[in-house]
Amino acid sequence: MSDGPIDLHTHSSVSDGTETPTQLVRAAVEAGLGTVALTDHDSTAGWHEAFAAAAGTGLTVIPGMELSTNWGPASVHVLAYLFDPNNGDIVAETARIRDGRLHRAEQIVERIAADYDLTWDDVLAESSDGTTLGRPHIADALVRKGFVPNRTAAFESILHWRGGYYVKYYAPSPVEGVRTIVAAGGVAVLAHPVTSNKYRPMDDTVIRQLVDVGLFGLELDHRDNTVEGKVRLRTLAKKFGLELTGSSDYHGEGKPNRLAENTTSPEVLAKLVARGTGSAPFVG
Ligand code: AMP
Ligand code: FE
Ligand code: FE
Ligand code: ZN
Repeated sequence: MSDGPIDLHTHSSVSDGTETPTQLVRAAVEAGLGTVALTDHDSTAGWHEAFAAAAGTGLTVIPGMELSTNWGPASVHVLAYLFDPNNGDIVAETARIRDGRLHRAEQIVERIAADYDLTWDDVLAESSDGTTLGRPHIADALVRKGFVPNRTAAFESILHWRGGYYVKYYAPSPVEGVRTIVAAGGVAVLAHPVTSNKYRPMDDTVIRQLVDVGLFGLELDHRDNTVEGKVRLRTLAKKFGLELTGSSDYHGEGKPNRLAENTTSPEVLAKLVARGTGSAPFVG
């Protein structure tokens, strides 16, 4: 494993980041990172390109993914590391989620098109083949058409869940999600668990259920976690013996988050690597 900062949450153009896996790896090397995890939403399609780009750079790449799950009305993200990308349940479940996202994006665009001059082709033009589609791609189309100045403005208006055009998409429950990741030899970490939004945070009973199916850790240091929420995460970690991670959730130019603005300790990374048996870190 390489020395240098450890950032375990980033997105490429395989999902809603703006840089290809190659560009993202180059950015990580330039930022002086020792280890980066590529965690595209519901897809492992960027792994090989990221490994190839890291070869000879000294950067370690942890293969990962950010799995979408639904807890009641709330969308809960689970970071998954070092699982077998060919595991049948992982392949089937992520295909089902990506398909659900695709149809849901079409439905959102249909709704928006009633009020704005926006077509499905405008959105497809903002993504490449096989991309995990999401609201960020619709946001990019809205920006290109001049309806909003940037992604954030789109999320605060037209794409907001209360904006009148929002549609949900299929995803498994957090418990099913963690169980599937662990069964595929992976390591599961709850992503940004305490952001401020309309939903009640998951209570201790749910966290216990996740621990029972093998949850490894909680993403503590993330810019969207609230200060009070972080206090609760430390308490939960002690109570359930969970590890704490920190990460940027880098999306290239798609979000203000910068690489290594939050990091994970080498001790926690070592435990995570020891736990993951479905695939291996790529030491570049
Ligand atoms: P979706 O998964 O399609 O519902 O869209 C949610 C995704 O949009 C998240 O994964 C975020 O990365 C991204 N996102 C949320 N808010 C913003 C924002 N203000 N600016 C850019 N991207 C955002
Ligand atoms: Fe995202
Ligand atoms: Fe997320
Ligand atoms: Zn993310």
